[in-house]
Amino acid sequence: MASLSAQTILCIALVLTTSLIMDVNATLEGGPREFDYFALALQWPGTICHRTRHCCSCCRSKNSPTEFTIHGLWPDYNDGTWPSCCARARFDVKEISPLMDALEKYWPSLYCSRSSTCFSGKGIFWAHEWEKHGTCSSPVIQDEYTFFLTALNVYFKYNVTKILNEAGYVPSNSERYPLGGVVSAIEDSFRATPEVICSKHDVEEIRLCFYKDFKPRNCLASKTSCPKYVSFPTYVALEHDESDAAIELISGEEAL
Ligand code: 5GP
Repeated sequence: MASLSAQTILCIALVLTTSLIMDVNATLEGGPREFDYFALALQWPGTICHRTRHCCSCCRSKNSPTEFTIHGLWPDYNDGTWPSCCARARFDVKEISPLMDALEKYWPSLYCSRSSTCFSGKGIFWAHEWEKHGTCSSPVIQDEYTFFLTALNVYFKYNVTKILNEAGYVPSNSERYPLGGVVSAIEDSFRATPEVICSKHDVEEIRLCFYKDFKPRNCLASKTSCPKYVSFPTYVALEHDESDAAIELISGEEAL
């Protein structure tokens, strides 16, 4: 039998090494490995509604939110990556019906279009968050109802809007505040460092991070997208927006 060339041996070694490295990220069942910590991502409607008011019914309603709302509860890895779409657990809106009032108020979608889901095309924002992130929070969180309930509970426990208001960082279209002051105000109350995401100088998101037992921990020290001075823009829906909303909602639904 002809002996293997050095080049062939090198190729086999390379393939074996690559598959070993890939296995580090996999559980025995072949899914992604268990996450390291949770991030609660909160979004500032004042910033997002300025972009989406013409198409987002939530932004256009007279009751458009004036406090941070929930974007998601994300299981993340310490290296800055995260698992996604971990199980074929389809979103079922019936499972969260007891939470509906709170979810509509504190976890609304501020975007225009329907969101992508992991395996079935498009769905509502909650379906996206459960399928993409929620299914990866096992073994800490095992089901859809607990995922949404836990996110709401953590959101209520650490009221970032109140923390900032009490420190004098109030919504304004003219004031800018030092980013360091905003971060310190949260650190003083939350006892850990948040992550702040900006769109130009407007704060778009604040993320709070937690160990798996939901004790606060520092978020990863990332390069911030914010300048030294940031703002929390206000957003007030215009009077005529609600009637426009009805018209545009119909045409939006037709387009689906
Ligand atoms: P994620 O960042 O959670 O993986 O994905 C968020 C996706 O959900 C976005 O791509 C967007 O299409 C959709 N989405 C729907 N409503 C909202 C919203 O209010 N805020 C954000 N950030 N994303 C939304």
